Amino acid sequence: MEPQLANAAYLGSIILFILALGGLSNQETARRGNFYGMLGMAIALAAAIAGVTGNYALLVGMLVVGGAVGFVLARRVQMTQMPELVAILHSLVGMAAVLVGFATFLGGDGESAHGAHGNLSAAEKAAEKLIHDIEIYVGILIGAVTFSGSVIAFGKLSGKIGGKPLTLPARHWLNLGLLVLAVIFGVMFVEQAKAQGGGLMPLLVMTAIALVFGIHMVMAIGGADMPVVVSMLNSYSGWAAAATGFMLGNSLLIVVGALVGSSGAILSYIMCQAMNRKFLSVIAGGFGSGGGGAPKGGEGEQGEVVSVNEEETAGLLEAAKEVMIIPGYGMAVAQAQHTVNEIVKSLKAKGVKVRFGIHPVAGRMPGHMNVLLAEAKVPYDIVFEMEEINEDFPDVDVSVVIGANDIVNPSALEEPDSPIAGMPVLECWKGSTTIVLKRSMATGYAGVENPLFFKENTRMLFGDARESLEGVLKSLDS
Ligand code: NDP
Repeated sequence: MEPQLANAAYLGSIILFILALGGLSNQETARRGNFYGMLGMAIALAAAIAGVTGNYALLVGMLVVGGAVGFVLARRVQMTQMPELVAILHSLVGMAAVLVGFATFLGGDGESAHGAHGNLSAAEKAAEKLIHDIEIYVGILIGAVTFSGSVIAFGKLSGKIGGKPLTLPARHWLNLGLLVLAVIFGVMFVEQAKAQGGGLMPLLVMTAIALVFGIHMVMAIGGADMPVVVSMLNSYSGWAAAATGFMLGNSLLIVVGALVGSSGAILSYIMCQAMNRKFLSVIAGGFGSGGGGAPKGGEGEQGEVVSVNEEETAGLLEAAKEVMIIPGYGMAVAQAQHTVNEIVKSLKAKGVKVRFGIHPVAGRMPGHMNVLLAEAKVPYDIVFEMEEINEDFPDVDVSVVIGANDIVNPSALEEPDSPIAGMPVLECWKGSTTIVLKRSMATGYAGVENPLFFKENTRMLFGDARESLEGVLKSLDS
């Protein structure tokens, strides 16, 4: 393909990707945004394939294998497994950056893929080679951290690795030591790479260091900080792709990588704000105990749990003027969103005002609840962010907490030494009655006991959320 044509196609893709990001910022335009993204990717892929010279059979073979694996995975994955899937896909971007880095280093002529080095002086050529070597080094570094960090994040999100943070003694010094070592080996690499074929050893050692760093960084992060980690790795994967773009001299990869990298960084910032956390203390780790924290203050002080049945729940809802529904991860597990929508319709028909309150880290990925509610066709105008409705709880008659736990935990505000202290939560206990739907008294993702369940105005409706809600709907309609 003519380079001008390829560049025009790349430019078109870039514009489509920007439109896609714009579209995704709003639920009403998200579908269109997705379409732009798919179209942009199709054009980018076609242009990249057309630009390849050489072994087409291998290329098509690998595309078919990769495409088939992706297709089967996408069909099989449950909505609740999406966060893990996203994490493992990030690891692939990191691995690709590492592999491209080594391939460029081992197979390249030592000069930048994007340099026009025909008429350059020796000094200019040396400078260009230096830049190219740094690109390779940094690309492999970011790629390796992204790869191993994402694999650990996958393990944590899928429950294969416990949520408890690994807090090694002197872990900050360990991190700092690894960083300093990476810089020292970087200088060694650049020096040795001046000679043809030199520098492999420092490159390999740095790769090992970066892999250990990625593992340690994510292992040290507690359950409650995982949302930030997911978006941070998203950002890293973007920078890894941008670094790959530099190595290959591909402007599309650079721009798209930078788009993903910066939007992931902005998302990390938003998540940090939502959790009331500083980005650096997230990276430093240790927030959230993970895996079944002990009840605070001893069992005797917890008070009693009052349970209700489905008919009683329906009765409370019918008698209410203002209802607030708070969905959490359990709604995703139970796939209860469609039944929730039916209940909303039934209550509205009875003149009850129903709204949804969405916590920014509800579920297991950013926007998780919004996706489920949109899938069930819940009208957007009754779905509110936490900060829009948190003040309204004193006027709410009944809050219905569907499979949520950490995001409605008062100890985040009331117990300074709670593992989730300082995290803003939906303050539903300030309303008249709260009904909590869950299967047992088990803790949520952060592994912290929840005093909400023992409050005087809380009622527990035990059971699978969908089955319970189907029962409630039946009572409402009878
Ligand atoms: P939680 O994990 O705190 O609680 C979910 C609750 O749902 C559990 O206590 C569980 O209780 C209940 N549950 C599970 N399955 C069912 C079911 N079938 N029917 C009814 N209830 C069910 O979820 P939240 O949404 O409240 O909070 C999200 C947590 O996840 C936060 O700690 C957040 O930091 C973390 N996180 C968020 C990410 C994000 O990007 N949004 C990413 C990674 C982590 P029981 O077993 O008794 O039924």
